[in-house]
Amino acid sequence: MAEIKLKNLTIEFGAFKAVDDVSLTVKDGEFVVYLGPSGCGKTTTLRCIAGLVQATSGEVMFDGVAVNDLSASARNIAMVFQFVSLYPHLSIKENIVFPLKARGVARPEIARKLEWVTDVFKLGDELGRYPSALPPGARQKVALARAVIRDPAVLLLDEPLSAIDEQFREEMRWELGHLQRQLGVTTIYVTHDQREAMSLADRIVLMNNSRIVQVSEPDRMFFDPVDVFAGQFIGSPSMNLIDLEPVAGGLRLGGSDVTLTAERDRVPQWALSAKRPLKLGVRPINVHLTEEPDVGVTLPVDDVFSVGRERFFSFRIGEAIHQGVDKRRSRAGSEGRVHFDPDGLLFFDAATGRRVN
Ligand code: ATP
Repeated sequence: MAEIKLKNLTIEFGAFKAVDDVSLTVKDGEFVVYLGPSGCGKTTTLRCIAGLVQATSGEVMFDGVAVNDLSASARNIAMVFQFVSLYPHLSIKENIVFPLKARGVARPEIARKLEWVTDVFKLGDELGRYPSALPPGARQKVALARAVIRDPAVLLLDEPLSAIDEQFREEMRWELGHLQRQLGVTTIYVTHDQREAMSLADRIVLMNNSRIVQVSEPDRMFFDPVDVFAGQFIGSPSMNLIDLEPVAGGLRLGGSDVTLTAERDRVPQWALSAKRPLKLGVRPINVHLTEEPDVGVTLPVDDVFSVGRERFFSFRIGEAIHQGVDKRRSRAGSEGRVHFDPDGLLFFDAATGRRVN
């Protein structure tokens, strides 16, 4: 097991910075998920930790020791990618024990380790079969078993579930989280799927444009985003983002003549006195229709729709359409009093995108 530390890590490809001054400590045994849009630098960071890409500057440290100059094979890491490459001519058992055989590990030790991973991964019935006979989810499980059989200090996983059918992915995700906790191996997992990150991670590292935006536990990432990007990247349906203009006595909703009054108290005085345009971020679960005359603001209800068991409504502010949860079974085309839960209000500086409250 190992603690991994990235110190001011920068990775350049020619003039392009794929990773820009990233610092992070992953604790021994922790499950950290790197999350972010395509091209933000997640895989490059992972490959650098693995020793497959050179850092341009900064350090990668395992248990306090810089490993920049160590080859990938000397780092005691195991890596599993999106597309598994099992040896097609070897049985599942032979595939799993391959790394131990290649290192000349003694037979009794191989047998003991095989029993252990077979038990952990519940692969007992598959050992005599060949990769082509297994569905993709099971093949990925074999790849994981092969990766951990030699007790790596670090497990690096790059979108390992994204090639698996949706119906098995959920099950595999659950199993993977369970296995990681059982094994206690320090794990870094890369994905662009926020649901995957939310369900697996001890902590999420959110990246954008080659930099870390926020490092938080999943709940905190959801309820306490540091900026507009973090707020909108996490959560489905996504956070509503409403233009606000501070005016005397309230906050005018952009493109309308509707003004929020009580909500103004949630914005710190320094942000109000700067008189800069703001954005209100509010998740659909924090927007409701109410019949109480003193609560909320009157806005047109645009549409009503169901997603599974939940019903949502959309409402208009000027040209922009936003969403809330419909507990009242409202009708489209009506007017409704829309109420924003005070505790769910996130205010951002419109120019910088940074949270102000
Ligand atoms: P994805 O999920 O699409 O893989 P990512 O966040 O993992 O996204 P990276 O694969 O780390 O992104 O790539 C970051 C950027 O670095 C991309 O613009 C990519 O084109 C570029 N890049 C990666 N490897 C190289 C390379 N060897 N040479 C040049 N550019 C590269």
